[in-house]
Amino acid sequence: MKIVFATHNKNKLKEVAALLPNIELLSLTDIGCTEEIPETADTLEGNAKIKANHVTEKYGYACFADDTGLLVDALNGEPGVYSARYAGEDGNAEKNMDLLLKNLNGVTNRDAYFKTIICLNINHKQYLFDGVCNGKILEKRQGDEGFGYDPIFTPNGYNLSFAEMSLAEKGKISHRGLAVQKLIQFLQNL
Ligand code: IMP
Repeated sequence: MKIVFATHNKNKLKEVAALLPNIELLSLTDIGCTEEIPETADTLEGNAKIKANHVTEKYGYACFADDTGLLVDALNGEPGVYSARYAGEDGNAEKNMDLLLKNLNGVTNRDAYFKTIICLNINHKQYLFDGVCNGKILEKRQGDEGFGYDPIFTPNGYNLSFAEMSLAEKGKISHRGLAVQKLIQFLQNL
């Protein structure tokens, strides 16, 4: 089965491909979709739908898209749906982490969670899957694996940050891993 994963992010593609061994996963680059798909919704669900619909409507493929946010309790759920652009449109992962650590400077409640929504378009129907990973924001960076906020997020029950875990370890407990596991179960029963 061929399915498009609507992402340009090679790290995410690698993470998800490792969890979907029986499916030929195509990236946006593989199908010639080089345009940036605007993520204009103000919810994770809305953005996941926009991306999946863009690919299915324009390119005709079965497609799934994900959208993820990091929600920090002490910041009323920020950066949330704006996690990628927390430090501004010209920001990057380093600047996003710097800003988050600054905003949590002196704050004792470090509780946070990642949430992923996956939207799947297949056989003219649409399905949603979610995954949540609860944890804490560290005081400073630990580890160099992964991407995004991985060096400053530690999942509950672990002494490691996501950036100190292997892909396989992270995939078993992460928000995206859990949502993908639901997606896999669904695809296996089609
Ligand atoms: P996206 O919707 O998956 O592109 O995620 C939006 C933003 O959330 C990314 O740009 C990252 O900053 C952050 N993010 C998403 N997933 C992860 C993760 O697994 N670890 C760390 N940061 C993540």
